[in-house]
Amino acid sequence: MVLPNILITGTPGVGKTTLGKELASRSGLKYINVGDVAREGALYNGYDEEYECPILDEEKVVDELENQMAEGGAIVDYHGCDFFPERWFHAVFVLRTDNSILYKRLETRSYNEKKLGDNIECEIFQVLYEEAMLSYKEDIVHQLPSNTPEELEDNINQILRWIEQWVKGHNP
Ligand code: ADP
Ligand code: MG
Repeated sequence: MVLPNILITGTPGVGKTTLGKELASRSGLKYINVGDVAREGALYNGYDEEYECPILDEEKVVDELENQMAEGGAIVDYHGCDFFPERWFHAVFVLRTDNSILYKRLETRSYNEKKLGDNIECEIFQVLYEEAMLSYKEDIVHQLPSNTPEELEDNINQILRWIEQWVKGHNP
C-alpha cells in the first residue's frame, strides 16, 4: 500500500507537535520531529548566538530522512520547509495562531526576549505560509487555524479525511 507524506509546519508554538503526534497515533502513520532527528544525530553546522540554539545542517537532515520519506507514510514536523525536496510531500499544512494566544504559549518557553518577539513577528508576517507557498505547489498547501482544542480536533479530522481520500485514490 502506498501512503502519503505530510508536512506540518508553522511558527514555533502554533501546535505542530501536538497535532502531528495525535495524527500519527490516530492514522497509524509515523511521526518525525525534525528537531529531534537533528538533535539525535547532532546534525548541526553552527551555533546561533542570538537565538541561543544550534543551527541545523539542512543537507545532513535531508540525507538522514531520505529513505524514510521514500517509504512514504510520514508526518513531518518542523518550523521550516524550504530545504526539503519538494517531491517528498503530498500535502503541506501550515498552522496559524492568533498573536495574543501565541504570545501566551511562547511565554512559557525559556526563549529570550528577542527570540520571542521574532517568533511573534514571524507569525504576523506569515513567514511560514509564504515559505510553503514558494516551496511547494500552491494547491497542496493548506492553512489551518490552531487556537483552541476544538480547532485541533477539527484539524485532526480534516487531515484524517484527507489521508483516507489520498490512500483510496492511490491504491486501486
Ligand atoms: P509547536 O510544536 O508548533 O512548537 P506545540 O505542539 O508544542 O507547538 O504546542 C505549543 C503549546 O500550545 C502546547 O502547550 C500545546 O498544548 C498548545 N496547543 C497546541 N495546539 C493547540 C490548540 N489547537 N489549542 C490550544 N492549545 C494548543
Ligand atoms: Mg514542536
